[in-house]
Amino acid sequence: MTLSNPERRRCTATRKDGSACQAWASKTTGFCPLHGPNASQIHVDGGLSKTRAHMLETRMNPKLKDIVQLLGMAAKQVHAGQITPQQGSALASIATALIRAVESAELEMRLAVLEVRLKGDRNEF
Ligand SMILES: [Zn+2]
Repeated sequence: MTLSNPERRRCTATRKDGSACQAWASKTTGFCPLHGPNASQIHVDGGLSKTRAHMLETRMNPKLKDIVQLLGMAAKQVHAGQITPQQGSALASIATALIRAVESAELEMRLAVLEVRLKGDRNEF
């Protein structure tokens, strides 16, 4: 069921492919957010967030990446009814414990590196 509102209008812009934009328009501009006066900033912000997400993904610990992938798969499987929500919760609990262990190990390693550097600096004086 779709609710129609006679007050709402569609965007009057034309897409790159020549078809009419089907998005809802703002009452003040007559355009959707992607075709309105702030469109260029929205596109820039979108590109930046994609870049940030990409950077985060490439810089993420490979072990965490696997866990995040597993959680994503589990969420899809729960949604598709392939596994029960209880099984999904169990996986999430295990994943959370794994993430904490990986993060803790990573923190220990970074701290050890800093301690070695600090000792090295002290010996120079
Ligand atoms: Zn539009």
